[in-house]
Amino acid sequence: MQIILVSRTKKVPRTLDLASRRMRWRIGAVAAVAVGACMAAGAAAALMVASPRDRALSEITALRATVSQQTRQLADVQRDAQRDLDALAVKLGQLQAQSTRLNALGERLAQMGKLDDGEFNFDQAPPVGGVEEISGSGYALPQTLDSSISQLASQFDGQQAQLTALQSLLMDARIESNLKPTGMPVQGYISSYFGGRPDPFSGHSARHTGIDIATPLGTPVHAVAEGMVTFAGIRSGYGDVIEIDHGNGYMTRYAHNSKLLAHPGQRVRVGDVIADAGSTGRSTGSHVHFEVWYKGRVVNPLAYVRNHR
Ligand SMILES: [Zn+2]
Repeated sequence: MQIILVSRTKKVPRTLDLASRRMRWRIGAVAAVAVGACMAAGAAAALMVASPRDRALSEITALRATVSQQTRQLADVQRDAQRDLDALAVKLGQLQAQSTRLNALGERLAQMGKLDDGEFNFDQAPPVGGVEEISGSGYALPQTLDSSISQLASQFDGQQAQLTALQSLLMDARIESNLKPTGMPVQGYISSYFGGRPDPFSGHSARHTGIDIATPLGTPVHAVAEGMVTFAGIRSGYGDVIEIDHGNGYMTRYAHNSKLLAHPGQRVRVGDVIADAGSTGRSTGSHVHFEVWYKGRVVNPLAYVRNHR
């Protein structure tokens, strides 16, 4: 077999005689070189294919480094958050302690004001309706801390409401207490009690409408409750007398004074000096004749003078 190669540059066509041994060697050599070139190209191509894997590997290495860095940062954040939470928990504990003290104070106030009838219970939050949910904050506290804060907040709300009610009740109670005759109008000792006794002048049986408190001439006489002076002057038998209306059904009378220091229409407070003690009217010596009237009836003043405000 012969292959004839025709070329423009060459006038004589070249003939490759495949039958010749020399030509077959040459073609074999060329083929071997071609196969070698192909193999080299394949290897290069294989390298080109393997390269993205290497790139991925290096990317993974970098990512792992990043992740490990982020893990450290997360640990830092968690540590900071834990520190914040610890601080918050400490603060919460302090608030709870304050709430406990507030409870104790409230209970003591309720006892002082004799209001411990079960209406005031500072240990429990007052019953309230409805459920509140805080949503959309996007920042979640740990469940226990969150519920502790909510509980504490409602506790404070309850205490606030109860203390407000207690305050107004105590105010009312104090006003009420100030209007009720309490204690002795003058320093001295009780020389004559309320009720039946022999009349000191006639010796006949008579009803004593008050108590007598023996005291030196000129000793200050005090109002035993807040009120309005309704009379200041002389009454038969009583001598110089002061009468105070306390506006709640009570009226008090202070008799036999040597000097009157209050005038009708004058508003007096507990303990105000209204007169100096004396022995005017039907009297055998310096003393204060003290009467308590309740809803138009004279009553025994003993219970009132023995009370304390
Ligand atoms: Zn008397």
